[in-house]
Amino acid sequence: MPEIAATTAVTATQNMFWLRVALDVPLNDLFDYCSLAPVPIGQRVIVPFGRRKLVGVVVAHPSSPALAPHLIKAVEQVLDDLPPLPADWMRLGRFAARYYQRPLGEVMLPALPVALRRVSDYRGKRSAGGPVCRIDRRGAPVAPAIAADEPPQLNADQVRAVEMIAAVRGHATILLYGVTGSGKTEVYLHAAQTVLKQGRQVLFMVPEINLTPQLERSLRSRFAPLAGGSDALVVLNSGLSEGERLRAWLAALRGRARILLGTRLAIFAPMPDLGLIIVDEEHDGSYKQQEGLRYSARDLAVWRGSDIGIPVVLGSATPALESWHHARRGHYLLAVLPHRARPVEPPTVRLVDTRRLVLDRGFSGPLVEALAQRLGAGQQSLIFLNRRGYAPVLNCQSCGWTSQCPRCTAYAVLHRRDSRRHYLQCHHCGYQAPAPRACPDCGDPDLRPIGRGTQRVEENLRSLFPSARVVRIDADSTRKKGSAEQLFAQVHAGCVDIMVGTQMVSKGHDFTRLGLVGVLNADATLFASDFRAPERLFAQLMQVAGRAGRRAQGAEVIIQTGYPEQAVYQALVRHDYAGFASHSLAEREAVGLPPYAHQALLTAEAARLAAALDFLGQSKALSEALRGAAADNGAVVLYEPIPLRVVRVANVERAQLLIESRSRPALQNFLGDWSRELPALASAAHVRYRLEVDPLEI
Ligand code: ADP
Ligand code: ZN
Ligand code: ZN
Repeated sequence: MPEIAATTAVTATQNMFWLRVALDVPLNDLFDYCSLAPVPIGQRVIVPFGRRKLVGVVVAHPSSPALAPHLIKAVEQVLDDLPPLPADWMRLGRFAARYYQRPLGEVMLPALPVALRRVSDYRGKRSAGGPVCRIDRRGAPVAPAIAADEPPQLNADQVRAVEMIAAVRGHATILLYGVTGSGKTEVYLHAAQTVLKQGRQVLFMVPEINLTPQLERSLRSRFAPLAGGSDALVVLNSGLSEGERLRAWLAALRGRARILLGTRLAIFAPMPDLGLIIVDEEHDGSYKQQEGLRYSARDLAVWRGSDIGIPVVLGSATPALESWHHARRGHYLLAVLPHRARPVEPPTVRLVDTRRLVLDRGFSGPLVEALAQRLGAGQQSLIFLNRRGYAPVLNCQSCGWTSQCPRCTAYAVLHRRDSRRHYLQCHHCGYQAPAPRACPDCGDPDLRPIGRGTQRVEENLRSLFPSARVVRIDADSTRKKGSAEQLFAQVHAGCVDIMVGTQMVSKGHDFTRLGLVGVLNADATLFASDFRAPERLFAQLMQVAGRAGRRAQGAEVIIQTGYPEQAVYQALVRHDYAGFASHSLAEREAVGLPPYAHQALLTAEAARLAAALDFLGQSKALSEALRGAAADNGAVVLYEPIPLRVVRVANVERAQLLIESRSRPALQNFLGDWSRELPALASAAHVRYRLEVDPLEI
């Protein structure tokens, strides 16, 4: 492709090719350029934009430009270090932009590795330069030939699931609902094997980076050709360096990667021979991107699978209610693994009603007894608590002063350093200050920590069981690179009697010696947030319960709660996901919540709450004008703007407006029209806003 040097406006319109280009700029628009030679759709180009130069992607060939031809500038360089991006990748980008109401350029360009969208990487180089060629010069290491692992004999349920997946022609979504320890991984591996044998690629998604190493090992030992460092199996996640990410992405694009194992961002990897997508722990909130393009990688996986006509497997012990609903309606196929693969009974779940008990340092009598018993038997225990730090608030006994974050409408959490000097930290904005030695208001030195976080529980456990070896595993104790692995290694080696941990310990780990799980303060999670709180809590507690008794009989889970009659706890005792799901879906249907309705959330941020609310009020008024004109008037409901529960974070005040409809097309049509009007309204009001489709937290 010839490079075009001219950057000045072009006047002649003859023999000119018009190009519509997506650029990563916060304008809801595409931009027209011209070229003396044809440039295919999907090709990356460098174009002048104002005083800058930007990398963009050619998305269309308009028959005439949107501006007068003499205003159209020429493409500066065609980046032919790569062939055009594949057509299905372009469709995925277009769909995501439309569905999530974002400019196409803000979707497509951030989905590319940084090196492929940075002008400086191409500066001064003629075509055939750029980062792709530098990567290419590195030879791919040769895979050592190692013998594949002997896989276990599949049980009848696993065989049925594998056959169901193999029988799919074209697209179907299969919900693989299997209790913890039922052997879902074996099903994934067999399904993957079939697809690999057909010469097609597999995209295998996991919710978190720290779940990749374990799976990577399984995949390498199972599939001999993937062993060693070869590009046949590549990992793609946000923990990689820029170079590693580029390399993995290119391996996927060129088809050298037969399996791509990755977190949510891997959904945007181009894979020309894609034959299967697996989404493990599909219910996990980590599949939702929480900034920029707020996409659900699980939902995009289903769309991508249907677009290119391949099966998509969603696996979970506690499927998202949306997925369960689709399966019940027959939109998804349902494969069930009802039993553990190893002959081990699931742990018994016991509720300890804390209303009738006096707690000792946060622990009930039955939990202390159970801990002592497991210690005596040489088994490990896990205390699960979703709150890090020492105590959620510091309080003055005399005047009632509390440790408020100066920048947020939230408490600053008390933390303890090794040196034992406490400090206050806000978990919303990161504000930090030494804890006062006396009350800042009245001078009373008698400041008390109220409630408990993991640090305090760790301290309590040491005083309750002085001989026990206690470790704490949370975001604070694992801040240093490699420290999480180190702590888990200690646990696996049996050098730990009691673990105290947040959700970090609940996922994926196979603790062979774990006999007891104690859950503290789950009620706070249940009542603190939105309508999905019980669903999230159920999934989380099932998962943490699943850590216990994976190899040994007689494991137990003890949940301390003041609300044992709540459906979520009752269902946990019975290990009854299906019952819980039916109950929850009936509730949601009665009040018209997702999955029976579809939602979007407009969130506004301003220096003052009044401005944020004002903007939302204007947006709502504008919507009425729009909906008046629409044919499906009335299908979309806008609620009153309300302040967020934590109104102020880092001196920014926030409010939100919920948009709801029983009809997905009506919602999408409305959002499409409405979102075009919002930028002007927001800039006039000096308000920042974001529009989120299918929000997970309200
Ligand atoms: P899940 O992902 O469903 O929680 P895993 O895939 O981790 O379950 O499997 C649990 C354990 O059972 C693993 O140690 C796995 O090796 C073992 N396993 C899986 N399938 C079988 C089988 N058919 N026979 C015996 N053990 C199995
Ligand atoms: Zn005081
Ligand atoms: Zn704060």
